[in-house]
Amino acid sequence: MTAFEPKLDDDCIFCKIIKGDIPSYTVYEDDMVKAFLDISQGTPGHTLVIPKTHVPDIFAYDTDLASAVFARIPKIARAVKAADDKIIGMNIVNNNGSVAYQSVFHSHFHLIPRYSDKDDFRMIFKDNSKNYDETDYTKLQNAIKTHLTD
Ligand code: 5GP
Ligand code: ZN
Repeated sequence: MTAFEPKLDDDCIFCKIIKGDIPSYTVYEDDMVKAFLDISQGTPGHTLVIPKTHVPDIFAYDTDLASAVFARIPKIARAVKAADDKIIGMNIVNNNGSVAYQSVFHSHFHLIPRYSDKDDFRMIFKDNSKNYDETDYTKLQNAIKTHLTD
C-alpha cells in the first residue's frame, strides 16, 4: 500500500472533527479512520465512520482508501452492536449527493443500530421488477460493465 497522505479541508465540518477543532464522541480512531457518535442519534448508538482524509463521496475513493475504510467497518459495527443487547440489527448507509440525502460532503458511513421495526429508522425500496424485461436488464448490465475502472 502507498503511504497514506491525509488532505483536510478547512471548510469541512468533519475535517474540523478530525483535527479536534470541533469535539466529538469518538469511539474508534487510527491513522486512517475515525468513528464517532452522530449528533442526531437517529437510533441510540448511531455512529459515523469517516476516512481521515477529505474525500467528498464514494466516487472519489481509490482502492487503498476503500480497503482501509471498509476493512474497519465490521469491527466498529460489532462494537456498536455489543454495546447494547437490545440491538437486533443494523443498517449501514452511505449517502452520495444531496439527492441521496447527503448533507455533509466528507464521505461517511452511518452505522444505525436497529431495535425494532418501529424504531426511528425507515428505508423504502420500491419493487419495479414488473416494468423490466430481459432486454432492459441486459442493457443496464452492459452499460455498467463498460464503465468499470479502478
Ligand atoms: P448525511 O446526511 O450527509 O448522510 O449525514 C451527515 C450526518 O452528520 C447527519 O446524520 C448529522 O446528524 C451528522 N452531523 C452533522 N454535523 C455534525 C457534527 O458537528 N457532529 C456530529 N457528531 N455529527 C454531525
Ligand atoms: Zn472533510
